[in-house]
Parts: sequence; C-alpha cells; structure tokens
Amino acid sequence: MTYRPYSEDELIMLSALQHYVYCPRQCALIHIEQVWSENIFTAEGRIMHDKADSNKFESRGNVRIDYSVPLRSLKLGLVGKADVVEFHRTDNGLWLPFPVEYKRGKPKRDNCDRVQLCAQAVCLEEMLNVSIPGGALFYGQTRRREDVVFDESLRTETAEIARKVHELISSGVTPKAEYAGKCDKCSLVELCMPKTCGKARSVRRYLMSMAEAE
Ligand code: SF4
Repeated sequence: MTYRPYSEDELIMLSALQHYVYCPRQCALIHIEQVWSENIFTAEGRIMHDKADSNKFESRGNVRIDYSVPLRSLKLGLVGKADVVEFHRTDNGLWLPFPVEYKRGKPKRDNCDRVQLCAQAVCLEEMLNVSIPGGALFYGQTRRREDVVFDESLRTETAEIARKVHELISSGVTPKAEYAGKCDKCSLVELCMPKTCGKARSVRRYLMSMAEAE
C-alpha cells in the first residue's frame, strides 16, 4: 500500500483509531465535537494509564523500559503517546523497541486494541528507523500480557482505519447513532442517546440549544 505523507497540521490523535473501531460516532463525538464524559470504565482505564505514566524509565537486565513515550507518524498522520515502550537488547547489541499498552478489562472481540498498538509501532518505526515485529497488550482484569504480532494484515487494517478516521474528522460530520450492546459500556451513552437519537445529531449543537433555553 502506498501512503501520502501527512503534514504536521493534519495530524490526528492516535487514540482516535481505537475510538473509531469501537464506534465511528463515538470517535466523531470526541474528536470532532470534543465531547468527553468519564464513566467507571474510562476512570479505571485512566488510573491504569496514570500508573504507566508515573515513571520515566527503568532498566531490568537486557530490557530498558520507557514510560509515556511521545509518538508521531507522518505516514499515518498520527500523534500521541505510548504507555510503555520496552527496549530489548538483541544479540548484536542493538535495542529493539517493543510497545506495551495497558488496558482495563479483558481482551476484546474486536481489533481496536491491536490496531492502536500497531499504530504505535508504525510511529516508532518511522521515528527510529527500525522494524518492529511485535508488542504486547496488558489487561488489568486478567493481569495477563497478550503478545501481538505486527503482520501485514494488521498493518494494512491499521493504515486503512487511520485513513478512514482522517476522512471522518475532515468531513466534520458525526455519524448517526445506532444502538448496540457496546453502548451500555460507552462513556458517552447519556449524551449520545442511541435509543432515542437514531439520526445524525450534533451533541454540541444539542448542548448549546439546551444552554440557550435556560
Ligand atoms: S452510545 Fe453507542 S452509538 Fe453512541 S457513541 Fe457510544 S457506542 Fe456509539
């Protein structure tokens, strides 16, 4: 696949990919309308991320661990931060990056966490001019690490999602709500109202009209 490099002005948040895979409307509400609401799920996730944020780096034998690492890719048009990047010393004395993302809960059915991790790897590859074959997801509920291989299929899916998120954000149009089981765990469910708002509705405009009515 060929990529058009993005400019600095076109970069979007890497986290938007995960939001988009979960629900394109959620992605639009957060990244176009800038609406955010915390619930128990996002609060637990934030606490885990804050923990990962608490140290800058440490070394354990042949592994150096960097926390809260800034990321950028002009190839995918992304900017963001990795919770943790381990650097594994190889036999030839080089340090190979190995991104690790901390998640609350357990492994999900969809690919959103793997896509986010793969996007982190693409950023690191571009920034450090290396090839990164794999990384890992750590889940708070199961307390387990799941290895993720950055194969061609995951890389293609990640690039395709990044392209779609750019399209969505530059369109400025929030997709209509469609109620599904995932809505019950969505931090935006009360603002989105998916059971009653089955049409493209701007939450920002709704909130402004409510404020004007007061
Ligand atoms: S409540 Fe459902 S439709 Fe609305 S943003 Fe969340 S997941 Fe998407």
